[in-house]
Amino acid sequence: MAQSLDSATCQALLDRVRFYRDLGLTEFYRRPVNPALMASLAAELNESQSLRAPSFPLHSAERVGDQPASPSLLSKEEEPIPLRKPFPVVPAIAPAVPAAERAAAMQLIREELGECTRCALHTGRNKLVFGDGSPVARLMFVGEGPGADEDAQGLPFVGKAGQLLNNMIAAMGLKREEVYIANVVKCRPPNNRVPEPEEGATCSPFLFRQIDVVRPEVLVALGATAATWLLGTRQPLAGLRGRVHAMRGTRLIVTYHPAYLLRDPRQKKEAWADLQIAMKELGLKLPTKG
Ligand code: URA
Repeated sequence: MAQSLDSATCQALLDRVRFYRDLGLTEFYRRPVNPALMASLAAELNESQSLRAPSFPLHSAERVGDQPASPSLLSKEEEPIPLRKPFPVVPAIAPAVPAAERAAAMQLIREELGECTRCALHTGRNKLVFGDGSPVARLMFVGEGPGADEDAQGLPFVGKAGQLLNNMIAAMGLKREEVYIANVVKCRPPNNRVPEPEEGATCSPFLFRQIDVVRPEVLVALGATAATWLLGTRQPLAGLRGRVHAMRGTRLIVTYHPAYLLRDPRQKKEAWADLQIAMKELGLKLPTKG
């Protein structure tokens, strides 16, 4: 039967795991226990220190006597222990996809998502909102997550915020079909709330793969949620706007979410300044003053 660890050992283990996580190490593997070795270590400890042998939570297949002694503690690897807390899992940058194959590559990601039930958001979903636009776009926008209109139509940014985004794209001298648009999460959060860390952590790897397929020259994060998940850092938007960030082999510009601009139109000027940075990076002609 599995035995529990004493509280001091538990605390020491927790401290060690936190330390590893601070270093960026997030996957832990349970080594198979060599029962004979464990038994002899326990006996040794008992004898030499007159202490109770440390108890380890042994799983049924690992219990002393349930299996023959293996020659080495490292003889076989097990599945990683699932993380209890969501942690942004950023996939390695995928190799570039030739332009002619990008539509098919995007379709593969869509098929892999399927009728996704990976996180709780699927329960309130009408339509999954995968993304929209050109898979060979030079410019890509990333929002937070679908709202009611997007959930109904299965397309990103088709509601009021979408109309404003369309105007922003037009002001840049581009057509909506020329850019690619996606979100951090692909299912509508209830009452349009900010996606939970668990939901973002589950869904964002698919976004990263879409980014890798499109390989946009410039990526625009619309709002704090997109900026947080793309940059992997939670910072006030004010500190992230107005400059170019290196991200995943491309250039990222952070600006206000169109829904925020609808609530506070005075910030449109600031957003336009951000979009002009994107235009400059893309070599697009800036409107002349006056
Ligand atoms: N807001 C978003 O962040 N994304 C959409 O697709 C629509 C509104």
